[in-house]
Amino acid sequence: MPHLAEGIARFQREVFPAQAGLFARLATAHRPGTLFIGCSDARVVPELITQTDPGELFVVRTAGNLVPAHAPGTDGVAAGVEYAVTVLGVRDIVVCGHSACGAMTALAEGHDLSGAPSVAAWLRHADASLARTAAAGRAGDVAALVRENVAAQLANLATHPSVARALAGGEVRLHGWVFDIADGTVEELPATAPCAEAATATGPATATATGPATCTGAAAVTDARAAA
Ligand SMILES: [Zn+2]
Repeated sequence: MPHLAEGIARFQREVFPAQAGLFARLATAHRPGTLFIGCSDARVVPELITQTDPGELFVVRTAGNLVPAHAPGTDGVAAGVEYAVTVLGVRDIVVCGHSACGAMTALAEGHDLSGAPSVAAWLRHADASLARTAAAGRAGDVAALVRENVAAQLANLATHPSVARALAGGEVRLHGWVFDIADGTVEELPATAPCAEAATATGPATATATGPATCTGAAAVTDARAAA
């Protein structure tokens, strides 16, 4: 992987000097405005598709952008969510699915995962998404499962005590996105129940800005970044 070393050298030589001021500030401050939960897929690069600078996104990436619902005990995803919400005080949480997701494709098409038991076990967190997609008559439809899965993860997020608390206080908003690799577009999914709940909880002032039925959207992320 010599190109990685070459990349580091180029970063230090050409990129870092131009952003030295930013990194000097970031050296002692970590205040991202958004928790971005995306797939581990190498083609979905949060900072690239949102054109954000270092320090703006707190990123958690998992296979299939899955966020298990809250359960006793702990895991890395739950810890990341709790840290972002409780300690860093992020104001927006994005769950971003994407086209041609390997995890969703494996589930939708019923691939044999017996040779990857950990992957198979992890993807069980999408069982409900799979069931709802099938119930809607879209079994085998990868794109439909991707969308259903994003909505399901937003619901799962709301079961985490830190997120539930922040939603109840109107301190955080949930957003569901789907990134299309082929054309670079990002689709906003319709507001979910926890999302609408958040808009209601924030009261008329912010509900007017975001709209009770559409509390998600890139504009809201832009606002959060500007205020961060
Ligand atoms: Zn994926």
